[in-house]
Amino acid sequence: MNAHAPLPAAADCGVEVRQERGQRAVFCGLTGIVWLHRKIQDAFFLVVGSRTCAHLIQSAAGVMIFAEPRFATAIIDERDLAGIADMNEELDRIVGRLIERRPGIKLLFLVGSCPSEVIKLDLSRAALRLSKSLAPDVRVLNYSGSGIETTFTQGEDACLASLVPELPPAPAEAEAALMVVGALADVVEDQFARIFAELGIPARFLPARRAGEMPPVGRNTRYLLAQPFLTDTARSLEERSAKRLSAPFPLGAEGTTRWLRAAADAFGVDAQHFEAVVAPGQKRARRALAQYQERLSGKRVFFFPDSQLEVPLARFLSREMEAELVEVGTPYLHRAHLSEELELLPSGTIVNEGQSLDDQMDRCRKARPDLTVCGLGLANPLEAEGLSTKWSIELLFTPIQGYDQAGDLAELFCRPLVRRTRLEV
Ligand code: SF4
Repeated sequence: MNAHAPLPAAADCGVEVRQERGQRAVFCGLTGIVWLHRKIQDAFFLVVGSRTCAHLIQSAAGVMIFAEPRFATAIIDERDLAGIADMNEELDRIVGRLIERRPGIKLLFLVGSCPSEVIKLDLSRAALRLSKSLAPDVRVLNYSGSGIETTFTQGEDACLASLVPELPPAPAEAEAALMVVGALADVVEDQFARIFAELGIPARFLPARRAGEMPPVGRNTRYLLAQPFLTDTARSLEERSAKRLSAPFPLGAEGTTRWLRAAADAFGVDAQHFEAVVAPGQKRARRALAQYQERLSGKRVFFFPDSQLEVPLARFLSREMEAELVEVGTPYLHRAHLSEELELLPSGTIVNEGQSLDDQMDRCRKARPDLTVCGLGLANPLEAEGLSTKWSIELLFTPIQGYDQAGDLAELFCRPLVRRTRLEV
């Protein structure tokens, strides 16, 4: 470990974690396809689901399709549900047609849904069968995007976890290397890749942009999570002997510095060299954040549980923008992955794990926060009651990690406040 200059002292971990169970209002894991299909450029996501599933992805992705989309839905219809048609035969036919029409596909994900699970369609066997018949040109994997009991970011976790057993093995004698885990916008990935190169840390990213370029994994792999919702992926990586570097997430100037520093410490980067590499980015981030500080300082923020990004976002808003946290809801709290984030929250912060929609709505209405971060379904009713809202899903679609996106992250939270001021004027 290097003797780096300490960052501002963390608050005592006086966070109060409560748990709630009850009615939920979340999107399912199919939503992840909307950002994943742009990330792995020669992959295709074939949802095996109903018309509802098709509508969900179409409407979630509707505004973002600029080119031929790399996802589709194989619709399970009444004949399939009644057991009249052979679903496996139909699936093989659909996949065959798809690969014929789109020869650029190198990796095909069969994405399970509630209907495919109800009829117990075994997509892992289908993926094995299709992988054999399409080898060596196309690899077929499967994961589930279904779920009433899941959160929409779990789709990415399930997708990346399905990739891990396929990663090439890193030779036992290989030098230690860093793996950054979690889908990042290309622009963010490029910035981090440059910083790691300047620090002299050999770094690769999961997922890679192309199916054939996925990083190797082995006991010399140190991995750094770029997203806080990758429980299953982390477990699979550890089964392949990779070791996690504990860090907060790269949101804001402070989060980004602490995240990079975790890697620098693990790879023995000289403290002065680290400071010299990160200083320009830190400066740009702080300058960008200063523009929004006045608007966010002292604002009372309420997080509904939705994306699992809530704890790192709350940390960013409270420590870097001086916002006040009324309540931080999160659908699921991975205590180990979020331990550093929890330590940075101000003492007395209430973190609510799970969801009981009516109770949370009551608390939110009573608290009348300046800003409510919530799912799409809750935003309209709350806006109608005069509350300013931010859709949490937007924080997944927008590049927000790293120094050069810190200002954009702050601006995303300012936007609803500015809009309401205009409406009031
Ligand atoms: Fe709805 Fe399930 Fe399809 Fe998601 S997977 S759209 S929850 S039916």
